[in-house]
Amino acid sequence: MKQFPLAILALTVATSSGCTKKKASSEVVIGSAIYKYDDTFMSGVRSAMSTAAEGKAKIDFVDSANQQPIQSEKVDLFLAKKVNALAINPVDRTAASVLIEKAKAANTPIVFFNREPMPEDLKKWDKAYYVGAKAEESGTLMGQIVVDYWKAHPEADKNKDGMIQYVMLMGEPGHQDAELRTQFSVKAIEDSGIKTQKLAQDTAMWDRVRGQEKMAAFLGSQGDAIEVVMANNDDMALGAIEALKASGYFKDKKFMPVVGVDATAAAMKALEDGTLLGTVLNDAKNQGQATFAVAYTLAQGKTPDKATTGYDITDGHYIWIPYQKITKENRQTAM
Ligand code: BGC
Ligand code: CA
Repeated sequence: MKQFPLAILALTVATSSGCTKKKASSEVVIGSAIYKYDDTFMSGVRSAMSTAAEGKAKIDFVDSANQQPIQSEKVDLFLAKKVNALAINPVDRTAASVLIEKAKAANTPIVFFNREPMPEDLKKWDKAYYVGAKAEESGTLMGQIVVDYWKAHPEADKNKDGMIQYVMLMGEPGHQDAELRTQFSVKAIEDSGIKTQKLAQDTAMWDRVRGQEKMAAFLGSQGDAIEVVMANNDDMALGAIEALKASGYFKDKKFMPVVGVDATAAAMKALEDGTLLGTVLNDAKNQGQATFAVAYTLAQGKTPDKATTGYDITDGHYIWIPYQKITKENRQTAM
């Protein structure tokens, strides 16, 4: 009589512990550090990653608060917890090298996104990947939007010198998107045969409020000599629009062509309102989805390819998501 309940107890313990064990070992956990949470574009990528992970894996997200030492510490914690893969949006892309070494030592695959590591770093390990978009492409498309506008609106050349007098709001120094969007937007305009003159250029760190402040300063020093405003992202373009409104633009036919990149919800609204001339879709949805798909595939010990992730892998380490030109005319069909 006494042995019976014991046997049942033993059986219950065995079954339940067996269950717990099975559940824990089959759950894929991805450790993901975002460079900073209060970045409009990164919020979009993060939510796309969460959606893609639903029912498949758990993504443990952390905010790096725009400080590389904090991020590196979070990565150490993820590795100590033995996550199955890492998905990292570096604060400082030159730090990728150290992060790859750490990940490799722990045999934990690492996928970078949005901030591109140096190619020589990524090549250090076959389980290191980058998901992003070709920065120069976004610059070229932005420049083309300006060219199309310029050709259709002769009155845009306010001083009639045949040149575009522009101001440039840049993203964070050192970020591939800031450097290359600046360079390639101007190149696309020049390649179309239109000469340009840079009146002012400064960084507004991807930030809307800083974009507004810098634009107010540009207006203060350059006034109505400015013919075009180019911003490396929509948040800064929207900040610039605020400053322009405050100095009388966008009413009584006083217009200023302003272009950005990202196609955020707020930018789409500005396109509709007619304040933002154009933007370039930086596809947060596909970047988030691809980042998750590659990390998830690697976490399961499989090799990422078109069949396992749904995306093409280039040069063994890269997944490139295309950009797209967005204007008021195509905004509903393009996205
Ligand atoms: C986006 C910016 C964003 C930055 C963050 C860029 O690709 O266009 O809006 O602030 O990435 O790294
Ligand atoms: Ca001019």
